[in-house]
Amino acid sequence: MLGKSHLLVGLTAGVVLDSFAQLSGPPLTMSGSVPLSLVINKAIFYFMVGFGALLPDIDNARSTLGRKLGWVSREIQHVAGHRTLFHSILGLFLGSLLAIGLERLVEFLLSQRGFVFPAQFIGATHLVFFAVLFGCIMHIAADGLTEGGVPLMWPNHRRYGFPPNPHWRFRTGDWPEHLIVYSFMLLVGVGVYMAYIRI
Ligand SMILES: [Zn+2]
Repeated sequence: MLGKSHLLVGLTAGVVLDSFAQLSGPPLTMSGSVPLSLVINKAIFYFMVGFGALLPDIDNARSTLGRKLGWVSREIQHVAGHRTLFHSILGLFLGSLLAIGLERLVEFLLSQRGFVFPAQFIGATHLVFFAVLFGCIMHIAADGLTEGGVPLMWPNHRRYGFPPNPHWRFRTGDWPEHLIVYSFMLLVGVGVYMAYIRI
């Protein structure tokens, strides 16, 4: 899938996850006055889901994230190849390690700037960790819908996807990709409008 699609799918799925699991705190519509720390929690959650949703394509120098990272991405693509390690369960494990480090960094930066409550909240709930990991999982799941599939068990090269027959899947960037992404957003949008899903 394209970077833009991954971002939209990840953030939309993040809305659904947060509505049910309430990782980032109570829904904004539920609290009479909206405290700044709640807004910060929500902003960090969605930023980190978005980051996680782009992260597996770190192995593609021409991807949205790869272009920003320049030579780092070129090296990774050169050594590992696109859609290998970083689109597997082993890659999710590496992503988790990165997410733990990132969480400590965010916690530190927040407390240093005087945002004590969001820093404590993140330390207690592991909001950053779950957000990044969820974004990565959504990325790999979405790539599983494309013709190429994903090598979940890498270093085993067998590729997995849904539907299991690759001929029924679409090619990255083709019209079914946009149809799926916008239908999903529309569906969740209706859910939010009907108040089944709360942000
Ligand atoms: Zn990918």
